[in-house]
Amino acid sequence: MLIAVERLLIRLRQPSARADELIALRRRLRDERAATIDADERALAREVHDRKLAVVAELRAVTSCGSCAAGQPWPVGHHAGGACCAGDTASLFDDRELAALAHAGTGPGDLVAPREAPAGCAFRAATGCTLAVRHRPARCVHYVCTTLRRELHRRGQLDAVEARLAALDGAMQRFAAARAARLDRETVAPLVEALTAASAARRR
Ligand code: SF4
Repeated sequence: MLIAVERLLIRLRQPSARADELIALRRRLRDERAATIDADERALAREVHDRKLAVVAELRAVTSCGSCAAGQPWPVGHHAGGACCAGDTASLFDDRELAALAHAGTGPGDLVAPREAPAGCAFRAATGCTLAVRHRPARCVHYVCTTLRRELHRRGQLDAVEARLAALDGAMQRFAAARAARLDRETVAPLVEALTAASAARRR
């Protein structure tokens, strides 16, 4: 779909605040997907993706996340669950998270938002998150609040979840380091090129 048409449809379907967020998020995602990255960085993005799904598999039966926000002030209490989803979209999808998603295969069309009124993250809805788990930031599965921690302890799952979270954290740290090194190289390369050209010009 043409980007201009896509943006028009988002503006027609969404409240203006969420439309602005979605358009900005999709633009950043497209820019990240256009970056040239090496196989190691892409493999690390895939590892983040796989370890995120491993955490979710361990959390599948929990119930805390469906009622944690009830009775709290807006925006947290706007829906019964998902208190940790009441934050700001751009912060939840920061550059590191968005890059990990982009290089693990998430595209602009995967960022599908609800039509109801916004209450925090652009993808938060009364029935939960509208994104498939594979397209959610790693931090969305990484956040384990006290209520959830207690439930996991009761279920005898806390150690297993913490081990998977540590593995996810390690993968994200390695991905972030590889990405930062690439960005440094991209910044330095034109400088080296200009200095080399200047030096060659002086010698002529
Ligand atoms: S992407 Fe989904 S899970 Fe993550 S903060 Fe937004 S609504 Fe919550």
